[in-house]
Amino acid sequence: MQFIDLAKQQSLIKDKLDERIQAVLSHGKYIMGPEVTELEDKLKTFVGTKHCLSCSSGTDALLIPLMAWGVGPGDAVLTTPFTFVATAEVVQLVGATPVFVDIDRETFNIDPQKLEEAIKQIISQGKLTPKVIIPVDLFGLPADYPQIEAIAKKYNLLVLEDAAQGFGGAIGNSKACSFGHAGATSFFPAKPLGCYGDGGALFTNDDNMIEIFQSIRVHGMGSDKYDNVRVGLNARLDTFQAAILLEKFACFPNEIELRNKVASWYTEKLKGKIETPIIPENYTSVWAQYSVVAESAQRRAELQQKLKEKGVPTAVYYPKPLHLQTAFKHLGYKSGDFPISEAISERIFSLPMHPYLCEEEVEHISKQF
Ligand SMILES: *Cc1c(COP(=O)(O)O)cnc(C)c1O
Repeated sequence: MQFIDLAKQQSLIKDKLDERIQAVLSHGKYIMGPEVTELEDKLKTFVGTKHCLSCSSGTDALLIPLMAWGVGPGDAVLTTPFTFVATAEVVQLVGATPVFVDIDRETFNIDPQKLEEAIKQIISQGKLTPKVIIPVDLFGLPADYPQIEAIAKKYNLLVLEDAAQGFGGAIGNSKACSFGHAGATSFFPAKPLGCYGDGGALFTNDDNMIEIFQSIRVHGMGSDKYDNVRVGLNARLDTFQAAILLEKFACFPNEIELRNKVASWYTEKLKGKIETPIIPENYTSVWAQYSVVAESAQRRAELQQKLKEKGVPTAVYYPKPLHLQTAFKHLGYKSGDFPISEAISERIFSLPMHPYLCEEEVEHISKQF
């Protein structure tokens, strides 16, 4: 059994993928070929935003808006410590200061109440200027955007949605990547919509910003090719990856349903055995991970071992919250600062999750608990 089985999906679309790859080999436009704009058009229609800008990775999709918004030294960017390193890495890359806020115990996403407290504290301390909130749609579940957007408005902050794991999720009819001022996703192979390498995309409704995002994606170019108007990046998505994504995206809406079916089998079969994920009413998760919480660190280790012996791979996302990682040591946080993130990181683990898991496999996994 695989933790994420990409081969099954590939076998279903192999012929179409081959055709797409051959088409790129024939036209030879490896950079910014026609597949790139075709993909951007399809993705923005799906998400429901005015603009989509494909780029080289989820990390660059997070970095570009921070650069465009002029976030830098002296600015505070509020985010969760219970996430992948890239979320806070980009903050540090532009010279701003990550300010961590603990998570909600049920959703594992940033806690809006603690978020507002943290903003007030930054203001009263007067050392940093709060500028941006980066909520993360952890494990595929959108963060609490109704509350987060209200807080952002109240304090005049920008919201950058880290939907690297969230593409395909929703709150009501509003799709992930459409929240806040810009939404960033990743097409890393293991994400719900993955390519066969690195890739990402940015979404926004802001007509002015999209031009700046576009410019930053290609070395800060201006209207004249040889007069670059700002310092940017080389952050384009490969034509090959766009071609692959076009075929993978064609089956993605169906895969969202399959993922939700797999998740509902898990939740039903694990009932009363272990703490299973909670999806708030009106929210749709895309189930980047199906994560359960054991009673203790020791119990987690026992369960993981038992599952391993039965051929079931598991993984821990995330064993160490960012505020305790070496790269963020200079921020001065210590153990105990974010008790929920810390407790969850010791007890959480994720089970195999992909659209092509069958009920018998979920049954086999659930029986080990
Ligand atoms: C994967 C991930 C990223 C980074 O995406 P890449 O495409 O690997 O650069 C950022 N944030 C979160 C929450 C992620 O899971």
